[in-house]
Amino acid sequence: MSSNGHKIELPSSIVIRDLAQMIQKSPIDLIKKLMSNGVMATINQAVDFDTAAIVVAEYGFEAVPEVVEETKQEETGEVPLWRQAIAGEDATSLKARPPVVTILGHVDHGKTSLLDAIRQTDVAAGEAGGITQHIGAYQVEKKGRLITFLDTPGHAAFTQMRARGAQGADIVILVVAADDGVMPQTKEAIAHAKAARVPMIVALNKVDKPNANPERVKQQLAEQELVPDEWGGTTMVVPVSAKQKQGIDDLLEGVLLVADSNEIRANPGGKVIGTVIEAEVDKSKGTVATLLVQNGTLRAGDIIVAGTTHGKLRAITDFKGKPIQKAGPATPVSVLGLNDVPSAGDIFEVVASEREARQIVTARMEAAKTQAQSRKKVSLEDLFANVQAGEAKELNLIVKADVQGSLDPIISELNKLGQGEIGIKILYAETGNIGENDVMLASASNAIVIGFNVQADVAARRLAEKEGVDIRLYEIIYRMTEDIEKALKGMLEPEVVEKVIGRAQVLQVFTASKFGRVAGCKVTDGELKRGARVRLYRGTDLIYEGDLSSLRHEKEDVKEIRQGFECGVGFKSFNDIQPGDQLVCYIVEKQ
Ligand code: GDP
Repeated sequence: MSSNGHKIELPSSIVIRDLAQMIQKSPIDLIKKLMSNGVMATINQAVDFDTAAIVVAEYGFEAVPEVVEETKQEETGEVPLWRQAIAGEDATSLKARPPVVTILGHVDHGKTSLLDAIRQTDVAAGEAGGITQHIGAYQVEKKGRLITFLDTPGHAAFTQMRARGAQGADIVILVVAADDGVMPQTKEAIAHAKAARVPMIVALNKVDKPNANPERVKQQLAEQELVPDEWGGTTMVVPVSAKQKQGIDDLLEGVLLVADSNEIRANPGGKVIGTVIEAEVDKSKGTVATLLVQNGTLRAGDIIVAGTTHGKLRAITDFKGKPIQKAGPATPVSVLGLNDVPSAGDIFEVVASEREARQIVTARMEAAKTQAQSRKKVSLEDLFANVQAGEAKELNLIVKADVQGSLDPIISELNKLGQGEIGIKILYAETGNIGENDVMLASASNAIVIGFNVQADVAARRLAEKEGVDIRLYEIIYRMTEDIEKALKGMLEPEVVEKVIGRAQVLQVFTASKFGRVAGCKVTDGELKRGARVRLYRGTDLIYEGDLSSLRHEKEDVKEIRQGFECGVGFKSFNDIQPGDQLVCYIVEKQ
């Protein structure tokens, strides 16, 4: 094994396929070399720098670490509510505030257990038997600093907030069970957090289990572009056991570190704005809502508008149920006094008077009505127009395919297409049918869902219709790439659909000097329209297809004729009409 002196720059983690391409060797060869070194890896798996260095050395290359330029995260796309809120604030008035954290991850990986463990480690919260009431959020203290946790784990809550533009969380803790590894919902969670541009920290849970395999999980995370910091990446991976309450302190310290590098600030004296975490009706108290203040300071007696509800706050309590007079940024509170139940994710703000509150609510209700009428978000057909209007720079896609084997070529084809002016961003690519979660993510991220050899389930289709999400199903890869390529170039024809508007039966046939032969018909269903398209059937045979060029009712030219009436119909340069023929009249509509 001698070095030929060729230096090769390698990243901290690299997928075998890419590594093989870099050194122009067959991936199979590489896999064999890895096996002889005791490393089992498939073509799509990533290896760390050290492993890659050993393998390339066998081919005479000398590996050097790639110099990664720090790229600042672009602030395109989504801007969290609190950033919007402080955009107009004077920089000197901004103060650090507690980070707001949410926990995502695959089912049964320990999200709930971790939330409980975190809550119990906190001495202040743990006193007097701990928190008995659950208001959807709580705070813990670490190193004299507060951290706010949203207590409703799961993607649905997170995405619902995003879909409403609220985005309550500053940091996501991604829980991955060390004995189970990265699973479909883990990938979904990563996609959600990435799409929302929220930094992630990984809690590698269940390390107490005998079959825990943290190294394997780290490798899987690296494959998802979450390269652990100990491998030279930027993702903090903290081993924990929610069950044995181990590693919780480290995790909280990690959260503070992530918070510090993200300048999480607010102006306690500024405009009061925040998000509704949850709300319900209590028989004796009326509407009870949990609010997360994101900027400014909320006070008892304030008048607020939350979504399309409003009211004067009668009482504010903290997450332990203790009455308080005011609550600053990142504080979760429970409030009484709203006239109705707002939705989770609704944005609230303080207004000057009840009258102003009512005006805002009325305007919002009106706006909601018109929005519902024109609720088309993104469709492939509209993409180019959106780009030209400056509303989109890239096409966000969620890709679902029947098997991994079809997913890989689809992704590589799509990535090739995204090299031009309009980029393609694949938020999430997985096997399986299209479900509600996919549509929810698409709606929150203005993405299109592409399905290859899969179906969209009924609930997903219903949600897609409601949210205006475009689902496109394909069975042939080039049809899909062709469509997307056309859309990127602004050449995709609007989808056209035929709409049958009427049917008629030919009763007899006349000869009129002007038109040649004319069909004397009775309209059996709907209406016939002059200028519309027609098909003439004899039994099941299609005899003629063309325009309905003349339409008469009792010798009068008419534009249309309805069900139950008789009429004379003539076709341009077509005469072979017989009694008993069926006429179907249709129009072509652009979607
Ligand atoms: P969720 O669905 O992600 O909220 O998961 P849960 O918190 O409900 O946990 C799922 C299961 O894993 C429960 O039976 C927990 O007791 C168990 N569990 C959670 N954390 C740990 C852990 O650190 N170690 C072990 N051994 N079991 C755990």
